[in-house]
Amino acid sequence: MDTSPMWYSCNCGGLLQLVQDFRALDVELLKRQFHERRAERHTLMASGVWRYKELIAPDLPTPYIVSRNEGNTGLYQSERVRSFTGVRQLWLKAQSENPSGSFKDNGMTAAVSHGRSLGYRKFACTSTGNTSSSLAIYAATAGLTSVVLVPDRDVALNKVLQTLAYGAQVRTFTGTYDDGIRWLDKYAEAEGLYVCNSVNPYRIEGQKSIVFELAQDLNWTLPDWIVLPGGALSNASALGKGLHDLYTLGFIDKLPRVAVIQAEGASPFHQMIASGGDALTPEVKPSTVASALNIGNPPSWRKARDVLHLTNGVTAAVSDNEIMEAKLLIDRSGIGAEPASAAAVAGLRKLVNEGAIHSEETAACIVTGHLLKDSDALRTYLDLPESIQHVRLQS
Ligand SMILES: *Cc1c(COP(=O)(O)O)cnc(C)c1O
Repeated sequence: MDTSPMWYSCNCGGLLQLVQDFRALDVELLKRQFHERRAERHTLMASGVWRYKELIAPDLPTPYIVSRNEGNTGLYQSERVRSFTGVRQLWLKAQSENPSGSFKDNGMTAAVSHGRSLGYRKFACTSTGNTSSSLAIYAATAGLTSVVLVPDRDVALNKVLQTLAYGAQVRTFTGTYDDGIRWLDKYAEAEGLYVCNSVNPYRIEGQKSIVFELAQDLNWTLPDWIVLPGGALSNASALGKGLHDLYTLGFIDKLPRVAVIQAEGASPFHQMIASGGDALTPEVKPSTVASALNIGNPPSWRKARDVLHLTNGVTAAVSDNEIMEAKLLIDRSGIGAEPASAAAVAGLRKLVNEGAIHSEETAACIVTGHLLKDSDALRTYLDLPESIQHVRLQS
């Protein structure tokens, strides 16, 4: 079957974004429908992404949609984590509860479904791990081929194993995530590959559902701040686009402020914002314990910058030690997270300490990935084998 070509970027050097026509939408009716759909179990509307189809991909024919009931993730409060950050009230949105264990599923279901609607059978991404395991799940679910490019170092082994287990073709290369993106940019079309990295605008549309669900769970209000980790900056871009939709349509009447947290060793976006600059200088050798944030040249930085402008947002960078300190607390709270997710909590604490966020304010942190995603990180603080007590069983 012939495929229609897919475009990801514009001649201006920026990424494409989808502009939806929402003029015919009735917000009160949609709120009722979104509420009723929460009772669905076995239809497409049981998905925490496709429940909001009217706001995500209204024209995508449903037979092409590949779904694993993604989204529908828990919203939790932990007194321990709250007091660590210092805000008055803290919500943790556990995107780690997605089918592949990270928020990437919210966007991946939309991208793979769209690629299918164009006739593609082969899907590709480059990834520090979570994008590839997410793509592998959706390709496997629909009986499609997935090809993933994984850097040969600084990647969490669990994520690669997970990707292989779902049947993806894994190709490893010497270089970073950024080199992988450049390769796909050049060769994907010729190889007939539909690219599922966050340069794909459907990923962004699908990821908007994270803030839709957060707002719906809180009865169409949002906390003062939404705090999330930033690597490629797709999640920050999607969050901002979702907020823009909710606000302009009238689902919410006040925009929260957004805080994007990067790891110190991979923080080109934070450095650009902190220095008041308007052009991103890539980090040539990114390095952080938070493998999902190990990105030196984030493709979505322009979109993320616009999100900060829209929401009067801020950025921060946290050290690997701060990340691991926050991770230990999230793990002990019973929610658990991989290091990249803990960066959001560490960053919130830092911003409160610096006075950028007031202790009387409220916040939600997006817990982006599951604790089991990175067992190397667990080993570094769990002190094995000393932390396991050997006992003699009496017969
Ligand atoms: C991808 C990812 C991030 C970073 O999100 P971006 O959209 O790349 O900024 C953070 N945490 C986890 C667990 C991820 O998988």
